[in-house]
Amino acid sequence: MRVLVVEDERKTASFIRKALQAEGFAVDVCHNGQDALSAASATPFDGIVLDIMLPGRDGLSVLRQWRERNNATPVLLLSARGEVNERVEGLNAGADDYLPKPFALAELVARVRALTRRGGETKSPVLRVADLTLDTLTRRAQRGETGIELTAREYRLLEFLMRSAGRLCGRMTILEKVWDYDFDPGTNLVDVYIRRLREKIDADFDPKLLHTVRGVGYVLKDQP
Ligand code: CA
Repeated sequence: MRVLVVEDERKTASFIRKALQAEGFAVDVCHNGQDALSAASATPFDGIVLDIMLPGRDGLSVLRQWRERNNATPVLLLSARGEVNERVEGLNAGADDYLPKPFALAELVARVRALTRRGGETKSPVLRVADLTLDTLTRRAQRGETGIELTAREYRLLEFLMRSAGRLCGRMTILEKVWDYDFDPGTNLVDVYIRRLREKIDADFDPKLLHTVRGVGYVLKDQP
């Protein structure tokens, strides 16, 4: 499996390269969009990790050009903070997945592995856990055929939980990813929002999907 990493911050690029190499990927690195375009037309890659913020041509414009040339290599976009507009724009431009910075290297590796496993097959922007679906383009949530109204923050929380489905999400991680906090505000904010979300996605439905791991956090999954 050969992966192209496009990231101008050399330290970050080097961390990503090492992490992927440690997992057995062959990794090429480019530090700007123009080099990335040349590299991808010269070499077939199984996946591309593409930073949006690049000097000169930004990642989205590079991605659009690839897709216009019918290059269907799966692309994981990286961006500073989870700007919703940027994410929607990225998915519209043809990205297969999206990871906001800062991210854990383990998560990046897991995403790249999933991406390269999927191969060139087109990925739906709809996240699914059991009969709960979340369309990341239209931002509509449904349980079976029933539409679920979400506030912006509830949407962000649900999207994070669904992208992490099956994995334990600690309160601190949720605060970081959904509220952009890098400190513990010492409130029960997360628990309050989890309770609201649970009322919307679980209260009237079976099976229950949002589970509490006492003292640690939450996990969204099909099986109890
Ligand atoms: Ca960058």
